[in-house]
Amino acid sequence: MLKPNMPFIDDQEDSGVPADLPPVIDAHVHIFPRNIFSAIQKWFDKNAWCIRYRMTSSEVFEFLLSHGIKHIIALQYAHKPGIAGQLNKYMSEKCREYGHRITGMATVFPGEENAETILQEAFDSGLGGLKLHAHVQCFDMNCEHMNRLYECCRSNRKPIVMHIGREPKSAAYNCDPYQLCSAEKLERVLKCFPDLKICVPHLGFSETSAYRRLIEKYDNLWLDTTMVITDYFPIEEKINLGLYRPDRIMYGSDFPNIPYAWDRELKELNTTDVSSDSLEKICYKNAVDFFSLQL
Ligand SMILES: [Zn+2]
Repeated sequence: MLKPNMPFIDDQEDSGVPADLPPVIDAHVHIFPRNIFSAIQKWFDKNAWCIRYRMTSSEVFEFLLSHGIKHIIALQYAHKPGIAGQLNKYMSEKCREYGHRITGMATVFPGEENAETILQEAFDSGLGGLKLHAHVQCFDMNCEHMNRLYECCRSNRKPIVMHIGREPKSAAYNCDPYQLCSAEKLERVLKCFPDLKICVPHLGFSETSAYRRLIEKYDNLWLDTTMVITDYFPIEEKINLGLYRPDRIMYGSDFPNIPYAWDRELKELNTTDVSSDSLEKICYKNAVDFFSLQL
């Protein structure tokens, strides 16, 4: 649960990826046009934590790349109808400035007019998949207009990153993710669209055990580690990555909207008890597979 005045952690940050880690792709980074970024910062300041890295999109990319991240998956989300087209244009232009080091994801507001056309145009412009956020966009993942978006992604062979875990929820959002979201509902999507690749961020928090079981059962589901292995949120079961299917977990940071050092999660990964082969998958190879990266 997000609530006002959550801790700001002034932990030490280092100037690069921990030396023992394999190459790292950050599968969960946010960028936005300046006005939306500053609105989001204000939202976090008021309703959650004080964001430690207050940057523009270019500064986000330059920071991570200069600190040793090999490749970035950049995400945005439209919080209302009518703005996705502009956001997608912004994303593809920003990514183009950085050549092959950034993969940008498209956004659309589920249920908005011409949603599939907006999405198709985004894919045609080179964006690498779709990002959706159920808490901000208040969609029901099993409704008919969502099926059309899944189909558009599937037929274009583009993955979806979909924040449909119930946490970290906030009373400041316009809907209750405990009503809208469940691992069971996602299971219906996984069954109906077996060749659509879906990633659920935050290891599916608050249903981490259910999601851990789902990746065992469905080859079209991935999870990312974003913010849930840093000991920041109270999580019902202590996350043990060693118990997870190693080819279905990706490292992601939520940079720059975080309340602690940019490398906090990388340091945690570096001390995690998983084989070096699994660590290579979590840090790099799984993202290459999920996003079909040509590096
Ligand atoms: Zn995020």
